Amino acid sequence: MPNRAVVLERIARALASAHEDPEYAFAVLFVNADRFSRVNVTLGAAVGDQLLRLMAGRLSGMVRPSDVVARGTPPTTARLGGDEFVVVLEGLRRADDVHRIAQRLIDALSKPYGIGDHQVHVGVSMGVVLRAQAVGDPDSVLQDASTAMREAKRIGGARYCVFEPAMKVRAARRGSVEAELRRALAEDELFVVYQPIVGLAGGACAGVEALVRWRHPLRGAIPPIEFIEIAEETGLIGPLGEFVLKEACHQFVAWQRSLGPRAPRILSVNLSRAQLTEPQLVDQVRCALDASGLPPDSLQLEVTESLAAQDMQIQSRLHELKALGLTLALDDFGTGYSSLASLHQLPVDVVKIDRSFVSQVETSAHHRVLIEATVRVALSLGMNTVAEGIETEGQAAALTELGCDKGQGYFYAKPLSADTATDWLSQRP
Ligand code: C2E
Ligand code: MG
Ligand code: MG
Repeated sequence: MPNRAVVLERIARALASAHEDPEYAFAVLFVNADRFSRVNVTLGAAVGDQLLRLMAGRLSGMVRPSDVVARGTPPTTARLGGDEFVVVLEGLRRADDVHRIAQRLIDALSKPYGIGDHQVHVGVSMGVVLRAQAVGDPDSVLQDASTAMREAKRIGGARYCVFEPAMKVRAARRGSVEAELRRALAEDELFVVYQPIVGLAGGACAGVEALVRWRHPLRGAIPPIEFIEIAEETGLIGPLGEFVLKEACHQFVAWQRSLGPRAPRILSVNLSRAQLTEPQLVDQVRCALDASGLPPDSLQLEVTESLAAQDMQIQSRLHELKALGLTLALDDFGTGYSSLASLHQLPVDVVKIDRSFVSQVETSAHHRVLIEATVRVALSLGMNTVAEGIETEGQAAALTELGCDKGQGYFYAKPLSADTATDWLSQRP
């Protein structure tokens, strides 16, 4: 297949044609398989190589000059590096055609591949640069196509994104947050806060949830929603998660020693999807338990629902974690791909009902009914329920009435620094 130099030359030619003819339309498509490395890891590099060859074949076979490409210029398909492909569509009849072509390519590339005994499924993400946005030299056009491809991946993959200059700004910002986060990990700017979880019936503190915080020397407090995602995308979630786990286990054991019966019984720590696919996770958890001396049954790990029950790799990882003796909680239940019907397929012990439901328990009969159904189904499966984000006495009363076991939210306490949490815990009746 043609190489990068050929692609750049074709883009240069298209740019030159566009310069001469205001009507001339072209597009650069940057194609990348979603989670390709997983194919390599689970099925072996030989299958991975074969998959790329088959993808290349489909791609070349799909871009037919006859239907979309005017002026008879054959499009160039070029394999760059790894699992990246570039298609340069020169002389498009109509600029709009590119949307249809992009979707058609994605559909074709996403059909299963038969390799040996395997049926390999792979999603495909694509970044598209249209003539109107193609500015600068060929190299930066290619770069922009790749930025748009990464944006497509970021919002879930299996789709195409058309490049806009704002993406470049956002990508640069993510890049700088990444660099800053690396430094933050090394220089102790991250710390952990603890939000109490209380029994709704008796009001006793049942546990605490560890939540990470970042105090940036210049930008002040940065909330987790602004950096967890970037940490996931860049692989920094591994060291970040390890830090939170170690720190929280250590603090929790200190409370067990100093507070005796007033110490919370359960430490709940969040795991993100990206952590669950890391092979070293189970060892990381085992090490944190061993190093701190925390009994495994005091630890609870929170995972979210988007970890679709169908994903066998994640399912088996969850079972390995449970085999360590800890418990699992399903976080943010009710958002995303929530399904009461698939609850029984997940090896979880606790269901955390999302704040978006809790906040409407008094005002929306619909939400109330859904909470009630969740509590019932959970109970029948032997799971406990925790209501997240309780802010008022009325909400607390409503959830108690609906049979929810525990609650968490500003009504009881905000996330507290370790010192403040120590005071809060020692002052509980
Ligand atoms: P989450 O696990 O669902 O955590 C609960 C979030 O709701 C926390 O936000 C908490 O401060 C907030 N919250 C609790 N009670 C109330 C309330 O009454 N009202 C309102 N408005 N909010 C309340 P936070 O700390 O900003 O964390 C956001 C999310 O970031 C977490 O959602 C979790 O998904 C993620 N996260 C936080 N720390 C970690 C971590 O150490 N590792 C990972 N992987 N994710 C983390
Ligand atoms: Mg949580
Ligand atoms: Mg939650």
